[in-house]
Amino acid sequence: MLGLMQEWPLLVHKIIDHASLYHGDREVVTRTTEGPMARTDYRTLARRARQLADALDKRGVANGDRLGTLAWNSARHMECWFGIAGIGAVVHTLNPRLFPEQLAWIINHAQDRMLFFDITFAELVAELVPHLKSVETYVALTDRDHLPQNIPHLVAYEDLIAEGSGDFAWKEFDEHTACGLCYTSGTTGNPKGVLYSHRSNVLHAMMACATDTLGLSCRDTILPVVPMFHANAWSIAHAGPMVGAKLVMPGPKLDGKSLCELFNGEQVTMTAAVPTVWMAALQYLEQSGERFSHLKRVVIGGAAAPQAMIEVFEKKYGVEVVHAWGMTELSPIGTVGTPTAKVAAQPYERQLDYKVRQGRPPFGLEAKIVDGDGRELPRDGKAAGRLKVRGPAVAKAYFQGDGPSAFDADGWFDTGDVATLDGDGYMTITDRAKDVIKSGGEWISSIAIENIAVGHPAVAEAAVIAVGHPKWGERPLLVVVPKPGRTVAKADILAHLAGRIAKWWMPDEIVFVEALPHTATGKIQKVALRERFADYRLPG
Ligand code: AMP
Repeated sequence: MLGLMQEWPLLVHKIIDHASLYHGDREVVTRTTEGPMARTDYRTLARRARQLADALDKRGVANGDRLGTLAWNSARHMECWFGIAGIGAVVHTLNPRLFPEQLAWIINHAQDRMLFFDITFAELVAELVPHLKSVETYVALTDRDHLPQNIPHLVAYEDLIAEGSGDFAWKEFDEHTACGLCYTSGTTGNPKGVLYSHRSNVLHAMMACATDTLGLSCRDTILPVVPMFHANAWSIAHAGPMVGAKLVMPGPKLDGKSLCELFNGEQVTMTAAVPTVWMAALQYLEQSGERFSHLKRVVIGGAAAPQAMIEVFEKKYGVEVVHAWGMTELSPIGTVGTPTAKVAAQPYERQLDYKVRQGRPPFGLEAKIVDGDGRELPRDGKAAGRLKVRGPAVAKAYFQGDGPSAFDADGWFDTGDVATLDGDGYMTITDRAKDVIKSGGEWISSIAIENIAVGHPAVAEAAVIAVGHPKWGERPLLVVVPKPGRTVAKADILAHLAGRIAKWWMPDEIVFVEALPHTATGKIQKVALRERFADYRLPG
């Protein structure tokens, strides 16, 4: 017997309709690429998204067409998300930090028909144009006065939306219709496209809003530093309007000073970014002596949040850290570190042991760890294995069937991460499977060593990679970037690690470098680092 409840398709543009109706005057503030701050609200944003939808419909954009965006976080970029999705077309977010050849490959692979871009990327777009096979129209996200030169088939966004009506009625279609496309950074092989559906994005945004996930409220002012081109901005461009929070979009300026100006100037209560962004922001605060005036909560994910960083936020600045883990394939939120009642009842120093872990899955994400033969491992907080997940916002295949088979017959997605799980669901990522260090047949967690190393007051950044060893197979090499103006001796760092990790985990050698290579999403690029140290031989 079927239930007698209404069909109400989960469509992402219903989110902006809700925000427009019930939080219409809630602001969306943007630091624009043109320079000045721009202020709009959900009512206006929703209307302009409908104008865009109508204009695209009139120009013949059809259900399933892919339209690329090469843009910072801004109100206009949000209008694109909702306007494009509202006619059943697909927003394809592109990461401008990728090499031009990679971008051209991705745009051609996705067969994007239009490319929306911020004027800061005009030169990059001009360079791409001769290589793009499917793009018919280029849309500069600006007005006619700021149109760049040298780009063919170009229209200013403000002129484009003037072709459409704000009373346009959204198209109707199935909730499983695709609405977003994002390619993973692809450290090996070609990038792979993750194709989100309306349903997966709406369910994921509902998961994200929950108190023990991101805990969003209409009283919050949220500054998503995490870009809309990096895994859905961790849902904030959907979840923010879903609850009616004020949004502060930082545009192109993501340095410590510019961000702190917005945090305090706009009275931001909640924010989210990868650890590398916070390294710079905390350094700025330390140097300037400034403090956060209204910030209550910061979500750190995308790479492991070091304990030292968590402690500075919480102890020095009184800002709660929520450590989260996720992936593009998971829309992207996977696990979140808000404390259970049991953990919250413990003394702070003990709670810290949990805060450095990557958190627990919210409802909507199943997780398990398996051994090399695919057998499930115990949830005892000790056994480490490949992490597999499934849920309504987890990919079931890559766009156009590309990529190795990370998806098994039972619907589990192999994340490629190695983790432990405990009885309460707390997960600790020990490594990417391809980065693990196997010494004498046992795994050494590079993430654990890195986290402790950056807790040394003179260390800015640290990475651990495997180097060959005649007896043990592999041994850890610690690569350290000292803080500006600081020097630190190898012996100091070894002393700092001693007692905090098992003796056989101690790095065999420490080398000092000026900088580490990073991926387009701000993660340390271990592949490049291993290449750099490919010929390295341990002393003795
Ligand atoms: P991306 O799809 O670019 O967001 O990359 C996802 C990958 O980033 C994951 O598979 C992890 O390897 C890594 N990652 C994300 N969050 C964390 C975290 N909190 N701690 C450690 N690794 C993380």
